[in-house]
Amino acid sequence: MASSENEGSVCQYTVEEINYNEIQKLEAVGEGSFGVVYKGIWRDAFVAVKNIVSENDKDAFIVEVRQLSRVKHENIVKLYGACTKGPNICLVMEYAEGGSLFNILHHAPNVHYTMANAMSWLYQCAKGVEYLHGMKPKPLIHRDLKPPNLLLINGGTLLKICDFGTATDMTAIMTNNKGSAAWMAPEVFETSNYTEKCDVFSWGIILWEVLSRLKPFFHIKESGYPSAFMILWAKHSGRRPPLIRHCPPVIEKLMTQCWDQEAAKRPSMKEIVKKMEVICSLLPGADEPLQIRGGDDVVYKEEIEEFEDCVEEIDQFPASTNGDNCVKSLPQPSAEMSRPLNIKISPDAWDLHDLDMQLRTMPGLDKMVPKNGSKNTTVEAGIESTKSTPDGTDPNLDKVYLLLEPHLRPATPDADNPQSLALFEEHKQLAQEYFKVQTELAYVSQKKDKLLAAQSQEQQQHTKLLKDLQAEKESLILVRELLSRQRENNNAARNNIDNWVLVPRDGTNTD
Ligand code: ATP
Repeated sequence: MASSENEGSVCQYTVEEINYNEIQKLEAVGEGSFGVVYKGIWRDAFVAVKNIVSENDKDAFIVEVRQLSRVKHENIVKLYGACTKGPNICLVMEYAEGGSLFNILHHAPNVHYTMANAMSWLYQCAKGVEYLHGMKPKPLIHRDLKPPNLLLINGGTLLKICDFGTATDMTAIMTNNKGSAAWMAPEVFETSNYTEKCDVFSWGIILWEVLSRLKPFFHIKESGYPSAFMILWAKHSGRRPPLIRHCPPVIEKLMTQCWDQEAAKRPSMKEIVKKMEVICSLLPGADEPLQIRGGDDVVYKEEIEEFEDCVEEIDQFPASTNGDNCVKSLPQPSAEMSRPLNIKISPDAWDLHDLDMQLRTMPGLDKMVPKNGSKNTTVEAGIESTKSTPDGTDPNLDKVYLLLEPHLRPATPDADNPQSLALFEEHKQLAQEYFKVQTELAYVSQKKDKLLAAQSQEQQQHTKLLKDLQAEKESLILVRELLSRQRENNNAARNNIDNWVLVPRDGTNTD
């Protein structure tokens, strides 16, 4: 692209056009809605290559190139350049050898992390987002903050935010269960009117996820895998992940403030960074690389209790107090606090990579105890509590029509008119069907794009094979010509020998 564009005086950016042939592609390291992300080597360094496979993703690609080229922060993945010419369109980025935080949390049960690691990840993520929100002339909203988009390097101690192509529309969310529904702020899918506070919401959910090492909103379905629209509906109704018993109040308060239904009531990223700075200063050992362990008896609950004792005073500091004073007056953490959290989870708890996965019962929820002891507790005070029906369906589905555009929603029925009530019920059923069909449609269309991409790859291979065969044929023709010429020469030579006239040594002709 090697382009330069002006967006006011501040947002100038240039992106190096990279020659695709200079990249040596190695193995695939991840997959998103865009396509596959590969590890590669470019100019003697490891890089991540994010290819786009479908024409439809070009817009998101351009957004991502533009956004990434504008940002420079140690907690945001670095863009080296892009290949925009020719058939291979891709982004070339700094490679994060630790993979995604999601992978560590849910697919690597032997990787143990400490409270210090956990809080440091959240702090680093908050710093990266604070930077984005502070950008001039207008803040940059990430909109798709989630552990799959948080990458780890340096043995899991350094966190980098990635994936800036967030043109996440409703269809994309409904497409499948691997989407962003669990972390998305309600106002993002309810309205087109949202602010940078939607990132604060996602941050609060990530905080819960890192503390519990469970997948958020998995609990809304008693068994099996909640669909994206069930999650969205739960959020729309005010449901949140269950609170964690023994979670230090300061962290719990921050978490619940962040996922407040009203965006304006959520703290700013700046405030979060300030709080996290203090919290992290109490927890040494965040620089220690993550460890892979076998069995260990350290219990998460105990560690969190110790931490609770340590930080219970943080909240009492006046907002104006600067960080130094805070830290000095706080109780110092004991050496024990750097012990690893040891929460064993099933690596199969929620396989986001497997769209066709079977419905399974959720493992691991017993590790975390909701405050009032119920798995279906609604967290927010005053918000309707919902329970699954015995057949496993969520009664909230009944109200899923409220997610429709206002003009598509069924009109309020006349309570005294059975016909009107029946029509209303029918309309609601249709709304449910509509969401199901929409989900399936989007899923099928995504599959279609993938198949088309695979088909065009196959065609390319076929053309290449034809070309190779043609070249081989031409060289064989050449060889045949050479051989036949050689044969002619040999024949001619033999003829010459046959026609030779023998001259006797004494010079007399024998004829
Ligand atoms: P989404 O569905 O979230 O929009 P996407 O197609 O935009 O996904 P990314 O989220 O950028 O793709 O990347 C998908 C996965 O690829 C990540 O979760 C991560 O596992 C891996 N990945 C992405 N970038 C890198 C990188 N720089 N280094 C290592 N792995 C990466």
